[in-house]
Amino acid sequence: MDELTGGALYQNTVKNLDHVAKIVKLDPNIHVRLLKPKRAVVVSVPTRMDDGSVKVFLGYRVQHSQTLGPFKGGIRFHPSVDLSEVSALAMLMTLKNSLLNLPLGGAKGGVACDPTKLSRAEKQGLTRRYTSEISMFIGPEKDIPAPDVGTDPQVMAWLMDTYSQEIGYAVPGVVTGKPVEIGGSLGRERSTGLGCIYCLEQIVQRLKLDLSKNFTIAVQGFGNVGSNAALFAHERGAKILAVSDVSGGIFSAKGLDIPAVVKHYKENKSLVGFPGSEPINNTDILTLDVNCLIPAALENVITKDIAPKVRAKIIIEGANGPTTAEAHDILVEKGVHIVPDILANGGGVIVSYFEWVQDMASYFWSEDEVYQKLHRVITIAFSKVWDMSQELKIDMRKAAMAVAVQRLARAMLLRGLYPR
Ligand code: NAD
Repeated sequence: MDELTGGALYQNTVKNLDHVAKIVKLDPNIHVRLLKPKRAVVVSVPTRMDDGSVKVFLGYRVQHSQTLGPFKGGIRFHPSVDLSEVSALAMLMTLKNSLLNLPLGGAKGGVACDPTKLSRAEKQGLTRRYTSEISMFIGPEKDIPAPDVGTDPQVMAWLMDTYSQEIGYAVPGVVTGKPVEIGGSLGRERSTGLGCIYCLEQIVQRLKLDLSKNFTIAVQGFGNVGSNAALFAHERGAKILAVSDVSGGIFSAKGLDIPAVVKHYKENKSLVGFPGSEPINNTDILTLDVNCLIPAALENVITKDIAPKVRAKIIIEGANGPTTAEAHDILVEKGVHIVPDILANGGGVIVSYFEWVQDMASYFWSEDEVYQKLHRVITIAFSKVWDMSQELKIDMRKAAMAVAVQRLARAMLLRGLYPR
């Protein structure tokens, strides 16, 4: 093992891939090519700090596969970023984009830093130097970054500006997740939460349940993904019994009025104290007696200790990797339907793809049009995963990976191996 392949996430991703390779009888020559990224770039990012000193951060851009189209994947600013983590995330992006039938490959980038400790000027300096260091590897036809943990539309705006300054003209299509004013897409902000609820509608239909008939939900995490998922589910008549954020949660047996909770959260910066609710902690919310659980905060929250106590029959993985491998097996054994992250939170990358298409055409769509197209792409992917899981009698996580690997393998075989 080495710096590239040694990390836990990389090892876990490869294990899952190996497992699925057996299920779909993957050509070993294709399998072996999927295990390593096409290219991994490591750069140093010297940044002027506000006190005048220069600090050197390490940055990465790992490009896993461009079989299906230009590389695509987010940029993470977080202290835990390293080559192996970014490589694993790049591999997962290849699989996610393949599963969603997007004409895109997979990549990921990051800088090992704590963005909460950087001033705006320091963050801007770091973003611009990092962009400049990777600029020969990115571009609207090569590799299109996007936001991820620790980065936001403002960071994407700096990235777009730096790249455009170097090229000499405005290139909005070099990055997605930008503010709407400079070529971002309407609907991008709410797309991941909405995608979760489109997936929920699909599974509810297949299990012959009804969202508007006493269907109960608990949502962990009340950020971009969690709050929007809660709002869209509430709009469809579901009862959201509990929501939480890092500082704790709120519960109401009658169901929470989610638009009012959002307003309270904006005004108070906390969920706690919402009128008519009782407090609930972040562990109890996972084991609440509800029809559906939506983990939309962090990875590895549903552990092997929590899994036996989970009472929901449906889990929609809004967050990336919220269920540990051991917990996953326990839940599947108990008959819980898990809609896996690469499908459930795919709304974000689908609308990122739409943003890139709109930028390349310089022609922008209405929010409704974006949502209609999102619905179409995610429900087709859902149906493929569901059908594969029924046909092969495997859980939806393995089925999602199987659908992704099969599409990729067909494309790799058609393109062949260069030079021979
Ligand atoms: P966010 O920062 O907007 O929100 C995160 C939420 O989680 C916040 O409410 C925070 O208080 C809460 N939280 C943090 N630590 C917690 C803890 N220990 N216990 C309970 N809650 C905690 O982030 P986001 O964009 O909503 O992303 C959430 C997850 O969804 C991440 O795993 C992210 O990778 C994934 N995701 C996001 C998108 C997107 O478009 N935003 C797309 C795909 C996947």
